[in-house]
Parts: sequence; C-alpha cells; structure tokens
Amino acid sequence: MSSTAATSRASDSAERASSGAKAMSYKVNINGTLFDKEDARISVYDHGLLYGDGVFEGLRSYSGRVFRLREHLERLWDSARAIALTIPGTIEELEEQVYATLRANQLTDAYIRLVVTRGSGSLGLDPNRCSNPQVIIITDKISLYPDEYYQNGLAIVTVSTIRNHPASLSPRIKSLNYLNNILAKIEGLQAGCVEALMLNVKGEVAECTGDNIFLVRDGVISTPPLDAGILEGVTRDAVIELARESGREVREVSLTKHDVYIAHEIFLTGTAAEVIPVVKVDGRPIGTGKPGPITLDLIKRFHKLTRE
Ligand code: PMP
Repeated sequence: MSSTAATSRASDSAERASSGAKAMSYKVNINGTLFDKEDARISVYDHGLLYGDGVFEGLRSYSGRVFRLREHLERLWDSARAIALTIPGTIEELEEQVYATLRANQLTDAYIRLVVTRGSGSLGLDPNRCSNPQVIIITDKISLYPDEYYQNGLAIVTVSTIRNHPASLSPRIKSLNYLNNILAKIEGLQAGCVEALMLNVKGEVAECTGDNIFLVRDGVISTPPLDAGILEGVTRDAVIELARESGREVREVSLTKHDVYIAHEIFLTGTAAEVIPVVKVDGRPIGTGKPGPITLDLIKRFHKLTRE
C-alpha cells in the first residue's frame, strides 16, 4: 500500500494546512486585531500554553463560504462551557471575525483554526486567576492528503493508547489538551500509518486521532455513538445526513475490532480529510482491499455539498 510508505508526511490538519504558509504569510487575528504572523503573540503565562487550558476548532472554507460555520462555533461554545470558560463576545461576532480574517488574507479556500485560551494567569492551576481569554483566528491554505490516498485508500492501525474516558476528560470537548490523540498518532506513525484507530476503555471502537470512523457492511453504514467517547464531528454529522438522504441506513452503534475486520468498506471523516477511504486495518485488507462503492458515492456527495 503506497499510503503506508508516506509515514513522515504531514498528515493531520494542522500540518497539512501549514504547508501553505511558505508561499505567503497570512495575518493572524487575536482578539479582533490582525497581526503579521511573526508579531502574533500571546503570553507565556497563558494557561492555554501552561496547561492546555482552552478550546479550539478546525474549519474550512470553500469558495469563500465557511462550511457549517455555525455548527463549529456552537461546538466551540459547548467545549468552552464544559470547561467553564467564557468566550468573550458572541457567536455572531466571531462569525464576522472569521470572514474578516479570510477577506484580509484574500483566502477563499482555506483551513481555519480558532483557538480560545484561558488567558494569562499565575503558575497555579486556578483558572479564576486568569484574565483575558485570547481568541485567535489563524487562516491558511489547505493542503489535503495526497490524491492517491483518496484513490487507493489509507492503511491504518489500531493503537494501544485508549481514547480518554468520557467521565475523565470527555472527547466531546475539543480542548487544547490533545495529548491523548498525539500519543495515539505517535503510535500510528511508528507503525507507518498517517492515521490510527483508537478504542475506548471498554475495547469498543471510538475514533481515529483526528477523524471519525464509519464501517459499511451489506450496504448498512455504522459509526460509533457519541457515548463511545468521541468527538461529534461536524463532517460526521454531514455525512450521516448525506447517507440518509441517499436512502442508506446509518446506525450509531457500539462497534468492536471484529466489526472493523469484517467490514466491507471503511471510511473516515474530518474537516481536513473530508471523506477518505480506509482499505487496510492492522495489516488486514478491508473488503476487496480497494475503496468501496458506498465510500466513493459519499465522497462524491460530500464534494457536491461543499463545492456547489
Ligand atoms: N475526532 C477528532 C478527535 C478530531 O480531532 C476531529 C477533527 N476535528 C474529528 C473527529 C472530526 O471532526 P470534524 O468533522 O468536526 O472535523
């Protein structure tokens, strides 16, 4: 599988997005003010840096329109609420700022990273001693996985790093503490894979390090439910809608590695990856070992949804 060879290639959204930076230095929006990239700075006392205390979102714009901006912002607000962080301003104001930043950078097809930190405080954990949360908008050119991944599919592995227990740190919070995913990503990369499958503490399928997972068997599409301990992906929701609109059954059910191995098709969804086929898991070919017809159909439908 050629996809496994590309182990050290940039693979997650941030890495993929940053490759555009060489061509142009885009302005970064901090608290509503645009800064040159090299002047975009926050305090080393910010608890976002000291403790990963903050939240973020990754979004994309297509032809100048941000895909499901409202959903992403609502998830950002939910993540913030879950960690008792008050985001300054309103959803509408941040919506405005996202578009203003895209316009300032003359970007129409972009990857957008929103970050809200707890703000700078003392060296103790106490968030009440932090002031001024920093609201950061970074926009850059999106650079996708290479085309061959979409044509030939990815090979992934199941890793031993268990997805955070929802009662400990809910995976539904898109927090700045992504070490759980990073540890899994490291394991995946060590195995020669750009994406890796994480199980939950019960041994059920949860999600990949930066993407949700879907299995197809006998024409029926299955994906782990939110209570498997996953991020409620915006792309996941869009793809469930698309599949149901096309008359397909989609089940949100607990899945095991057994279900993965006997699936006829597998695909992943995420803002940066969109819909991407998986053709091998733990060295085992999935289905025919090629991207399947339902996956290809959903890729087409997702393209239509975002580009037309
Ligand atoms: N799971 C995790 C852990 C993620 O980080 C992401 C990317 N944000 C996803 C799933 C996919 O979510 P979305 O479709 O909203 O990008």
